[in-house]
Amino acid sequence: MTPGALRHELAAIVGEEFALGGDDPRYLADQTAFSAIQGAADAVVLPADAAQVAAVVAWCHEHGVPVVPRGGGTGWAGGAVPLGTGVVVALERMTAVRALDPLQWRMQVEAGVTTATVRRLARENGLCFPPDPGAAEQSQIGGNVATNAGGPHCFKYGVTGAWVTGIEAVLSPGMIVSVGGAARKDVAGYDLRGLLVGSEGTLGIITAAWLRLIPAPAGSWPACAFYRDADAGGEAVGRVMAAGPVAAAVEYLDGGALAIVGGGFPGGVPADAGFLVIAESDTGAGDCEALAEALGEGAIGGVVLPPDPAALWRWRDGVGPAVTAVHGGKLSDDVAVPVECLADAVREVEAIGLRHRLESCSWGHAGDGNLHATFLLDPRDDLAVHRARRAADDLLAMAIEMGGTISGEHGIGVLKNGWLRRQWAPAAVAAHEAVKDALDPTGMFNPGKKLA
Ligand SMILES: Cc1cc2nc3c(=O)[nH]c(=O)nc-3n(C[C@H](O)[C@H](O)[C@H](O)COP(=O)(O)OP(=O)(O)OC[C@H]3O[C@@H](n4cnc5c(N)ncnc54)[C@H](O)[C@@H]3O)c2cc1C
Repeated sequence: MTPGALRHELAAIVGEEFALGGDDPRYLADQTAFSAIQGAADAVVLPADAAQVAAVVAWCHEHGVPVVPRGGGTGWAGGAVPLGTGVVVALERMTAVRALDPLQWRMQVEAGVTTATVRRLARENGLCFPPDPGAAEQSQIGGNVATNAGGPHCFKYGVTGAWVTGIEAVLSPGMIVSVGGAARKDVAGYDLRGLLVGSEGTLGIITAAWLRLIPAPAGSWPACAFYRDADAGGEAVGRVMAAGPVAAAVEYLDGGALAIVGGGFPGGVPADAGFLVIAESDTGAGDCEALAEALGEGAIGGVVLPPDPAALWRWRDGVGPAVTAVHGGKLSDDVAVPVECLADAVREVEAIGLRHRLESCSWGHAGDGNLHATFLLDPRDDLAVHRARRAADDLLAMAIEMGGTISGEHGIGVLKNGWLRRQWAPAAVAAHEAVKDALDPTGMFNPGKKLA
């Protein structure tokens, strides 16, 4: 069937206006575009509701056409990028809030609702949806569930999956299935909800989710301390975890990242600082004092208590874009290691960068041992891109060697194809493949991703 005919058939389901050509650049790339993962598709559809998603999937199943689910396109793994053929199913029109029950601390939203909207609705009702991935204005809750997204406050509260009590999804061959729901506990069946969380569009299309909320924390009391190097900073992270009060977030920036963004740090950065640790309490000034005391040993110039926490977090949110701006691009991987290996991993990122003649830096969620290990590059420089890919291979190998994981946040997508087989034993990979075969026997959902 020609792409034109295919699009014509899908237009009968979603409407002419919402069946687009497969060459529409808005739906062919994500944040990995610089590394030459450029997509191509036969068509792009924008369904209005779960019934239309089901009809599109049923049609694709019948005609042997692959389906690529797409949220906000903020992914860092190429997961939403169509690899040559198939139909991109973009959820952006599915933005209904189906239920908002503040007194029961929960809501049900369609997949296309943005992360920022979910967090704002919770906040306006005195509540909190804790997962706080960085691209909240663009990323969608369906994408967050599909990648099991994290963020700074997931140290205390856990990643997205911990806040999902139910999922509605369209599975092969085109049926709408609900697993879980409004009930806070449900241990009746196999954890199909858990299987869909983090499935990166390879098992089906998430069309809605039930989300658990909590009363909004009392406030934000961050404490910051600079150290001469990663070793001293890593020790401080250990002391924070042993301090008593559970920090809401424990973040770090290494010397390379500080050299780029330090100028904007509220209060300035001491000249000989090579590492920053931020530990935030959300339970009060008393708990912040305990965290500050834990940070104190070896801190250059003492512990800083920023008077405007929102300004601090705005600065922290700007780290990624500022690093990108240095040369116009970066290859950033989200490896995670056991927290006691953080300092070793930070030093190793630097060594890998030197080995591959690339500027490097890292920052991230120290309490989770989760690094945004980054190689800076000009995306037009093919050789630099090539060297960065080799550096990323060394990085993933390092994470596995340290007993960590190739992905603490962004997933596997297409960027880390094949690496799951290096992280997991063959029997574990086989169990993983059996799940894929059971739920998607024809392999129609997001082929070439995650397990490929
Ligand atoms: C500036 C910036 C900061 C970021 N910070 C963080 C961070 O702190 N923590 C973090 O975890 N990530 C972070 N990310 C990465 C990204 O925002 C997350 O992975 C996010 O969850 C992706 O959501 P999305 O809607 O953009 O999904 P997309 O990029 O569109 O898709 C991601 C994957 O999910 C699948 N998918 C999307 N929607 C659905 C659906 N409805 N059903 C089934 N599968 C679907 C896609 O097929 C793809 O495999 C950041 C990205 C940027 C650009």
